[in-house]
Order: sequence, then structure tokens, then C-alpha cells
Amino acid sequence: MTAAELVQLAHDIKLWARELGFDQVGITDTDLALEEPRLQAWLDAGHHGTMDYMARHGMMRARPHELLPGTLRVLSVRMNYLPFEAGFAATLRDPTLGYISRYALGRDYHKVLRNRLKQLGERIERRCEALLQGSQETLGEWRPFVDSAPILERPLAAKAGLGWVGKHSLLLNESAGSFFFLGELLVGLPLPLDAPVEKEQCGKCVACINICPTGAIIAPYVVDGRRCISYLTIENDGPIPEEFRPLMGNRIYGCDDCQLICPWNRYADASPEPDFSPRPTLHRPPLLDLWGWSESDFLKHTEGSPIRRIGYRRWRRNLAVALGNGPASPQVIEALQQALGEAEPMVAEHIEWALATLANRQQEDHKKTRLLIRCIEKGLPDHA
Ligand code: SF4
Ligand code: SF4
Repeated sequence: MTAAELVQLAHDIKLWARELGFDQVGITDTDLALEEPRLQAWLDAGHHGTMDYMARHGMMRARPHELLPGTLRVLSVRMNYLPFEAGFAATLRDPTLGYISRYALGRDYHKVLRNRLKQLGERIERRCEALLQGSQETLGEWRPFVDSAPILERPLAAKAGLGWVGKHSLLLNESAGSFFFLGELLVGLPLPLDAPVEKEQCGKCVACINICPTGAIIAPYVVDGRRCISYLTIENDGPIPEEFRPLMGNRIYGCDDCQLICPWNRYADASPEPDFSPRPTLHRPPLLDLWGWSESDFLKHTEGSPIRRIGYRRWRRNLAVALGNGPASPQVIEALQQALGEAEPMVAEHIEWALATLANRQQEDHKKTRLLIRCIEKGLPDHA
């Protein structure tokens, strides 16, 4: 293929990607050698927690050409996902509701992005077949990836010019913030490269570090996965360490705090993609309603949603913690007590924690009420 044909193809790929609903695409090579020491240090420190697959693939994560031999370029794509009615504050501030990370309110993004990337690959393949007719050259193998392979998608996206990796370790784009999904298409074509953004633009800001409820951003650009609520509620299969439970508030699946506080998300656009529209049962859901779901209700309501991946056991564990962090109402206490007998051991332990936490809160509330009554009786100001 000639240089001019490759330039034209790169141009057309960007048009096709837009037609397929991607908000941006960039082209980069497969060299992430600069990232390897950082990845190794993160793994050595154990910040991946029980995400063994991260360590298992070792440095292959930084070497896409080992993942798919013959790969010369990575097409890095991003797709906005923020729903029009995100309702962040209204959900986070109401402890009777469950907060679900905004990316998980609609259809499973893995399916949506992989399907579109496959369509993009097919269009490239058709163009290459036409251009390479009668020659010995071939496009070779190509493959889409969406969180499905050991690949360092954020540094690749940064190299491809989609933004920079912020201090919260997510990709930031100066005109779109960070509420978008990333995906990659690996191809064996020497397409012209896009330039990375000239410099990261976090500057002196440390808002994400300060806001993180569990102190998971232990240094700029370093997230200790074991402290992160997204890891604790989604990836972690075992008990949630007690020290983090009160800090989780009503977050039952993931956490968006470090993105919410980020000034660059002033520029985040809502997505018109119907697949990412919130499902009514998952948008601002009362915790007690979710607690009432049987396993078959859970499977029905989360069909085609990323939430289904965590399974009913982790879902109940997370809900128990959120209920323990909410108001100590008789309905909540009764619902927790009723579930205790049939709960499997890990969930039961979280229910017991929730009941003990609510009982302590009730005692504190009673103490405050008694003090208030005494103050009123003595005619003292209530802060005396
Ligand atoms: S997702 Fe939440 S817990 Fe994790 S680093 Fe961001 S603010 Fe912290
Ligand atoms: S909150 Fe500030 S430091 Fe954190 S990612 Fe955004 S701009 Fe960077």
C-alpha cells in the first residue's frame, strides 16, 4: 500500500469511527516501553489486590504486538457515556438510595464498543481488500479489545492523542473530561501516527486526591486498587475490609468521586447513545427495593448490564454495607434481620456489621435526643 493510500485510509477510519458513534479515534504504535517500569512498580507494590490477571500477563500488557503478533498500530477510540439525567448529587446525598457508577446504568459497554470496533475493522478490511487486489500484501489479523485483554489502554490512548493520564490515573480530554469508555483495534497496517497531547494539564490541582473517600490515590497518578471503592465493590470477591465500609456511604457499584470533582469534567458531554440510558430500576434506586430482590430478580434486572458480572453474592454484600451506612429506620433493621438467617457466610457477616453499625447510631441518636431534652428543660442553648 502506498504512503498516500495509508494517509487516505487513516483519514477515512476517523470518518467511519464517527459514523459508528465513537467520539474520537487516534492512531499510535505499539511501543509502551516507557510504561513498563511504572507498571512493574505498581504490581510489585501489590496495588492490583486480588486482580491476579493483571500480574499474570506481566509486561504483555505493555506490548500489544505480543498479544497479537503482526500488530503495527493501535487504533484507540473513545465513546462518551454520561447520561443526560446523571443525577450525581441527588443520589449521593440521599443515604436511602443506592449509587451506581454512571457508566454502569445502561447496557454493558463491552458489548456496545466491541460490536462497533468489529464493524470498524470490517470496513478497514474491505478497503484493504480492494486496495491490495492482485498484490502479495495482506492486512493480516486484526482484533478489537474492550477491557477484555491485558492491554494498557490509558497510556495507549494518551500516545494516540486522546488526552493525558490524570492524577486519578484515568484519561482526561480537554474538551470531553473523563466520562468516556476506551477501546482498541489492533491492526497490522503502518498507518500514519497521531501526535500525543503536548503536556498533561492537571497542573497544581489535587482535587481528586483530596476528595477520594478511602484515600486510594496514594500519590499523583498512583491508585492503590485495594483501597478504591470501584475495586472493593466490583473486583473484590471477598469481604470488604471494615475500615473502608463506613467510607463507602451508599456506593453499591463503583465510585465516581474523583471524576465528579475534576474541573475538566465541566466539559463532559452527555451521550446520545440509547444503550447508555439509565435503566429505571438502577437509576436512583431505593436501597430497600434493591435489598428486596431475589437472585432471579437480580438476574432479570441486570440482564445485559455490566452489574451482572459481580453476581448476586457481591451485590448483597455491597447493599448490606450501604444499608448499614444509611438511616437506622425500623424497616431497614427488620429487612436486614430477616435476611440474616438465609444469607451465606460472607453476606451474613456484612449484615451483622450493618446491624451493629445501625444499633450504635441509634444509641448515639438517643444520647443526642436526651441531651437536647435536658437542654430545653434547663432553658440552655442546645449547644451548651
Ligand atoms: S473511584 Fe472513588 S475510591 Fe476509587 S480512586 Fe476514585 S474517588 Fe477514590
Ligand atoms: S481533579 Fe485535578 S488533579 Fe485530579 S485528574 Fe482532575 S485536573 Fe487532574
